[in-house]
Amino acid sequence: MREYQVLALELAPVLRQAPPFIAQVHRLLGIVEVYSRDDLKAGALEFIPMERILKNALELEKASTASLGHQDYVVKALLAWFKNDFFQWVNKPECLLCHNTDQAKITSLGATKSSEEEHRRAQATTTEIYKCQQCHSTYRYPRNNDPLVVLEQHNGRCGEWCNGFMALLHAMEIPARYIWNAEDHVWCEYYSASQKRWIHLDSCENAFDEPLLYARGWGKKMSFVFAVSETLIVDVSAKYIDPEHQIPKQSKCDVRLLGKCVRMFNAGKWLAYNAKLTDLFLDYEEARLDEFYTKVLRPHYEEVAQLKGPSVATKTEELKPRETGAGEWTELRGESGK
Ligand SMILES: [Zn+2]
Repeated sequence: MREYQVLALELAPVLRQAPPFIAQVHRLLGIVEVYSRDDLKAGALEFIPMERILKNALELEKASTASLGHQDYVVKALLAWFKNDFFQWVNKPECLLCHNTDQAKITSLGATKSSEEEHRRAQATTTEIYKCQQCHSTYRYPRNNDPLVVLEQHNGRCGEWCNGFMALLHAMEIPARYIWNAEDHVWCEYYSASQKRWIHLDSCENAFDEPLLYARGWGKKMSFVFAVSETLIVDVSAKYIDPEHQIPKQSKCDVRLLGKCVRMFNAGKWLAYNAKLTDLFLDYEEARLDEFYTKVLRPHYEEVAQLKGPSVATKTEELKPRETGAGEWTELRGESGK
């Protein structure tokens, strides 16, 4: 048994007694593993109109005066295509029988546990039920989790948007991580080679490097924001929440205990990643350490320093209210910028 497997076993009883919020954070750890599967990357690539994305990226690059690299323009072009021409936001989904999309003629009947078939097909765990007032049929909308199924359907809410976009970034070998907010929103980030930092991306909003969009733009109050990659889980709250919109962290859990647990989670993730690198480089110890240092440790410590610095969450750019989601729905969530 390898070290990280031993650690996982030791962690299990601790987690069984951990407060619910810490258990919830722990469940995030495995969420990104799926994206590094080769079959998934190959499948996801099929959805990208590559020629068009690269052409648009070149045009953006020519027109821009910013000091970004080519990779950054590729991400911008991918993001714009994803939002404007590919993915669709769903409030109440289209009737499967008569294709009615009139929101006033569709009634939500709540949600239920997904059927075995729905779970087998796309790892759905929750299925929403709707009644069409036009043809009187009742139909199901499983909240699918399999990234390829999500790309195939190319619609959903922030979960599906983030899931689909993460799959595309990974397919293009752009380092990406999953960003989870405790107040029910998800988005992602990619690691910019030119900027040498993680850059905020929200595919629902076509938002690029606007980390204060939620707090200042939507007026969203938040407690925690975590970033999850293959190698790390990091508390990036300081990047996304300004003091005015910070829900006290202590109201969610014992912050010191959480910090301790996150360090344990990361030890497990690093051991697992090192085991993978050891398999990759066999006995080239130097190559393994170099890879680990340049890809994981150095960016991590740079980020930790940035997160502690005074410049985080103080920018004052123009931020817009939420674009996706029906008005009533965003107001309920306190995100309309009002
Ligand atoms: Zn219908």
